[in-house]
Amino acid sequence: MEKLIIAHMYPDLMDLYGDRGNMICLEKRIRDYGYKCIIIPVRLNEDIHYQEMDMIYMGGGSLREQKLVSDDLLQKAEGFKEVIEDGVPALLVGGAYQLLGSYYRDDSGNTIKGWGLFDFYTEAQNERLIGNILIETEIEGEKRSVVGFENHGGRTWLKTGSLQPFGTVIKGFGNNGQDGSEGIKYKNLIGTYIHGPLLPSNPHIADYFITAMAARKGLRLLEHLDDELEWLAHEQSKMKILSQR
Ligand code: GLN
Repeated sequence: MEKLIIAHMYPDLMDLYGDRGNMICLEKRIRDYGYKCIIIPVRLNEDIHYQEMDMIYMGGGSLREQKLVSDDLLQKAEGFKEVIEDGVPALLVGGAYQLLGSYYRDDSGNTIKGWGLFDFYTEAQNERLIGNILIETEIEGEKRSVVGFENHGGRTWLKTGSLQPFGTVIKGFGNNGQDGSEGIKYKNLIGTYIHGPLLPSNPHIADYFITAMAARKGLRLLEHLDDELEWLAHEQSKMKILSQR
């Protein structure tokens, strides 16, 4: 049986608002598509072999967890960009997404150095950006909605023109609550503030990652999974978010 291997970085530290559910969702869907899914936890001081991974995942974390992982993360920088350039899918949520940029500064001025892989930075303010979020993104040329929950003090600013956001905010705050952008998308990497967790109520995003992982191995997803309940949850969330002021 073909297998898809996912590196789950710092599962014990970087996991906010159900982010672990993204792994449960991918594991189940991959199994339902007829492949084996292996999730490899990568903790502090453990090596990561990027070349052996079909996908890389890291959930969100507060300033405390970000501080705990940041030095170790800087040591794990080598090799990451290379596989991303090669099209390996990656999902980085909240505090993990912030660390892809040059820095995260909290509201007292403490600064955590990021990987600096992309031209953006994050500066936090005392007032947090909290609530349900609805964005519009484009997958395979089609406009699609994405629903979830966000809770961050950080305001992320992408260098205009050089980076593509993951989507456009319809309701909620997104990167900074001002410019209407949410997250980043580069090749098959998505950085986002969307928790919830993201994938169970957005099965099209889960399948985006699985399709990309499979395609790199010359595989195609043959079946269509029965996503009636998932889409019901998605539509209910969407209606609820749209009706909020
Ligand atoms: N610590 C970060 C912030 O509050 C990220 C929190 C999160 O992962 N949502 O900005």
